[in-house]
Amino acid sequence: MSEYTVVIERKPLRKTFTKIGLHMFQFTKDFTRIRYQKKDKKCHLCKEDFFNNERISLAFVKGMKNHLLCEKCAKKLIEKGVSYIDKSKT
Ligand SMILES: [Zn+2]
Repeated sequence: MSEYTVVIERKPLRKTFTKIGLHMFQFTKDFTRIRYQKKDKKCHLCKEDFFNNERISLAFVKGMKNHLLCEKCAKKLIEKGVSYIDKSKT
């Protein structure tokens, strides 16, 4: 199993990502109704707001709650070697 640690500098905080669920959800009105918290409306890493119908990914973080990520951040972690499952290919 491969994983990758991101150091969040302004905290400082280390987050170890163990698995990515690529394109796990689509950011729709239904989705915001279920996940209503403000922090679920933007990427946990780059803090950019999700746009309508964006495919968002779920990241599993050691010792923390799962994170929602934009495609850019999810792919960056996958490039670093974090194992992943691709929802769109199942
Ligand atoms: Zn992001």
